[in-house]
Amino acid sequence: MDWAQRDLKHIWHPCSQMKDYEEMPPIVIEYGKGVYLYDKNGKEYIDIISSWWCNLLGHCYPKINEAIKFQLDKLEHVIFANFSHEPAIRLCEELSLILPNGLTKFNFSDNGSASVECALKMSFQYQYQTGHPERTRFMCLSDGYHGETIGALSVGGLDLYSKIYKPMLMDVIRIEAPDCYRCRYGKNRDDCNAECFEYAQKSFEKYAKQTCAIIIEPLLQGSAGMRIYPAVYLKKLRKLCDEYGVLLIADEIATGFGRTGKMFAFEHANVSPDIMCLSKGLTGGYMPMAITAVTDEIYNAFYADYNEGKAFMHSHTYSGNPLGCSAALAVLDVLKNDAVLENASRRAKYLNSKLNEVFAGHKNVGEIRSIGLINAVELVKDKNSKESFDSKLRIGYQIYKKALSMGLILRPLGNVIYFNPPLIINEEEIDKAVNICKEAVFSVVGR
Ligand SMILES: *Cc1c(COP(=O)(O)O)cnc(C)c1O
Repeated sequence: MDWAQRDLKHIWHPCSQMKDYEEMPPIVIEYGKGVYLYDKNGKEYIDIISSWWCNLLGHCYPKINEAIKFQLDKLEHVIFANFSHEPAIRLCEELSLILPNGLTKFNFSDNGSASVECALKMSFQYQYQTGHPERTRFMCLSDGYHGETIGALSVGGLDLYSKIYKPMLMDVIRIEAPDCYRCRYGKNRDDCNAECFEYAQKSFEKYAKQTCAIIIEPLLQGSAGMRIYPAVYLKKLRKLCDEYGVLLIADEIATGFGRTGKMFAFEHANVSPDIMCLSKGLTGGYMPMAITAVTDEIYNAFYADYNEGKAFMHSHTYSGNPLGCSAALAVLDVLKNDAVLENASRRAKYLNSKLNEVFAGHKNVGEIRSIGLINAVELVKDKNSKESFDSKLRIGYQIYKKALSMGLILRPLGNVIYFNPPLIINEEEIDKAVNICKEAVFSVVGR
């Protein structure tokens, strides 16, 4: 049996129809370097999706490798209730310097969904303990994505992931999300005034008194197809939340650590959320770790004599894992000292202009949109009506397979092809990736 056959004998891969693996067996990766991955046969792949958006600085970045190896010989893990360690303490000190204003207290977990669950439970309990036990519901945006656990799925809005589980999910208040490509107001995201915010306004007027928090993906609804919306929406939302006493949870799991061109997406709006969820790029994509960052005000609502029962009784075995913290510290060090964001912003312009060169006039390209290094190309059946391809055609999947055969990992979201590369990608690598992408798209939908 070869490696792929041995894999399929036991492994149930995430987010996959396992029957698809009959025609396309799993690719068994041997090692990675920079933006490249290499399989068991030595075939090279450009990891243009940062291995599910988490690989921030390329594979096997020497400084991160060293930091983990150094920590490994000192301490691999310790219970985080009543105990602590230097990497966690230093990491929190560093984070408090770069996070949006006011986020000063950090609760650790081990994956993005878990950090969302923390944020939801914390905001519920915060309202309960500050005199608002009637605020029991959550608001969220349509087409949002916050992870796959039951709470996180409840505040998500993508049927693909949640439809079957509806009877298990919370009853949330869903606000129609901005959809700038198909804007109902005929506006342009670069100079609109977020007219679509009226949906949020109406929902708040009606439901805010029952609501403990609203959770959003700031500026970029990733899983919805890299949908990008303007910062003015966040400004308005901050104001509305303050008016109505609703907590604002920013899910920056995908957007944090430079992905949108600033350290955090919220910086584009010059306002701060009350709670922020971090994971993915936090450890450079090395270790499963997540953080839920909150304000002093929220933290203080849990601070009381033990018998008042106000503690946040939530834990994960691997909370604050020292290896994860060491990786995260190394990532912050690299971001600070190696001019990563400056370089990334130059490459972002380059990538965007390349994609425009290749795709702008194409009959099936509806929109090319970008924020930071994230670039998305939305393919449509008809450019004028913006009608999508029938999802049953699996256009994205055909393109995915084609690109893979040529050494590029694209993994489209439906009919949206996107680039979300490690921030260290260079121009030569961008050229190579765009060329393969072009060939793959042209071979599926024509020139
Ligand atoms: C990936 C992601 C999550 C979930 O994180 P996991 O570590 O996969 O559980 C939540 N929110 C957003 C915006 C994400 O991109």
